[in-house]
Amino acid sequence: MGIRAIALHLLAALWIGHGALAGDLSALARLDPAASRVVDAGAGIAIDLAISQAVPYRTFLLADPPRLVADFSEVDFGPSRPAALDRSERVHSLGWGPVREGWSRLVAELDGPYRIESAEERVAETGEAEIRLRLVPEEADRFAAATAGGVPEAARWALPEPVALAAPKRRQTGAAPLIVVLDPGHGGIDPGAEAGKAVEAEVMLVFARELAEVLRRGGMKVTLTRDEDVFVPLEARISVARAAGSDVFLSLHADALAEGEATGATVYLLADEASDTASAQLAERHDRADLLAGVDLSGQGDLVAAVMMEMARTETQPRADRLAGALVAAIKASGGRMHRHPIQEAAFSVLKSPDIPSVLLEVGFLSSEADRRRLADPVWRAGFQEAILAGLRAWAIADAAEAQLIRQ
Ligand SMILES: [Zn+2]
Repeated sequence: MGIRAIALHLLAALWIGHGALAGDLSALARLDPAASRVVDAGAGIAIDLAISQAVPYRTFLLADPPRLVADFSEVDFGPSRPAALDRSERVHSLGWGPVREGWSRLVAELDGPYRIESAEERVAETGEAEIRLRLVPEEADRFAAATAGGVPEAARWALPEPVALAAPKRRQTGAAPLIVVLDPGHGGIDPGAEAGKAVEAEVMLVFARELAEVLRRGGMKVTLTRDEDVFVPLEARISVARAAGSDVFLSLHADALAEGEATGATVYLLADEASDTASAQLAERHDRADLLAGVDLSGQGDLVAAVMMEMARTETQPRADRLAGALVAAIKASGGRMHRHPIQEAAFSVLKSPDIPSVLLEVGFLSSEADRRRLADPVWRAGFQEAILAGLRAWAIADAAEAQLIRQ
């Protein structure tokens, strides 16, 4: 990691102390989107963020695709979405949100290699602050050298704990409560799909909390991969499932599809390659979230590990297939609405646990007005959640029976 790529600006809090002008120190710093901007500056980019009080922050660059990352301790970005900000065409996308307790992150995807020419925080007499970042174009090889180290050590807290390659989990036999990990998709810097007032990350968090209660009442043990609006890297979601000793991993989504009139629930299974365009787009969008935050571990793992995982997957995949079938049957039996192709395959990283049957459930599509209405209806949700409980129960019984057969 070249020095140039990291600009660390951790301010001592001391100077805030002069006078009462600094305002309420315990209050969270808030971004004022109306006074903030991301604009062209000569051949480069100017990012000015108006915040209600000074905060420690740091910035760094990442490659593939080129991105500027800024971490703040801690900024409330409020209800406004990054898309609302006036934006330079040199910034392909802009995302912000909480990434970890006490930290917020902004990620700007750039149209090419840049370097951080300057980064400063100016504080007005009122205590309000402005963070001013200036990026200028950089030669490709210098940019590559500067970003070769990836995420700087100090910013690596977003990475999950390394997953120990323990023996594959013993499959459930029905002797103990079923352990279910629910994974509300997206969160924090990655809001997922947005349609009207509905934001996928929020809709799925509500749904997952309610579903957790339904499953617990049904005698299952439930863990959530996130229980607040925070960014959780995909690999960390899998780590949560392992740490919980999960029997089943259920990722919950409500995406928007641009093409066609997608409506109704869909169960996705892991595929090596996404089978059609819509599946490929979904997989791309979901896996992109990790790239955005600079966490991409997908290339990791040595050959031995890969072989071990492949062996485990050979037993796990048919179990996941049956799980998908059981969920679809239960949802249909409850009168719930399924997509006309209820079971599909896509290359979702989050489904890659080798020894935990994992499926991704699109509860509905936010792009469909009918689905949005259903998702907003607590009565409809309760019925759908009961159907998931019934599906999981039916699957667990059949799965345990098969486990007994294998063992004999
Ligand atoms: Zn999603």
